[in-house]
Amino acid sequence: MRMCICCNTKMVENCGIKVKWAGYGIDLTDDENKLYGGRLGEPKMAICPSCGEVSIYLADVEKLKN
Ligand SMILES: [Zn+2]
Repeated sequence: MRMCICCNTKMVENCGIKVKWAGYGIDLTDDENKLYGGRLGEPKMAICPSCGEVSIYLADVEKLKN
C-alpha cells in the first residue's frame, strides 16, 4: 500500500501512463546510455485521490538487485 507523501492518504495504485496521440509505452532503465540494455519494464503510477499527488514506481524491482 502506498501512502501519499503530501497528505498521507492511501493512494490508488496500478495506474498507467499513456503518451497522448501515440501507442508508445514507456520503459524505465537503470542506465539511460544503453540503447537496449538495462530495461527495467514499464512504470506504474499511484495517484492520491485526495490531493492529486502522482507517484511513479516500478512494480518489479527484482531487476534492480542484479
Ligand atoms: Zn495526497
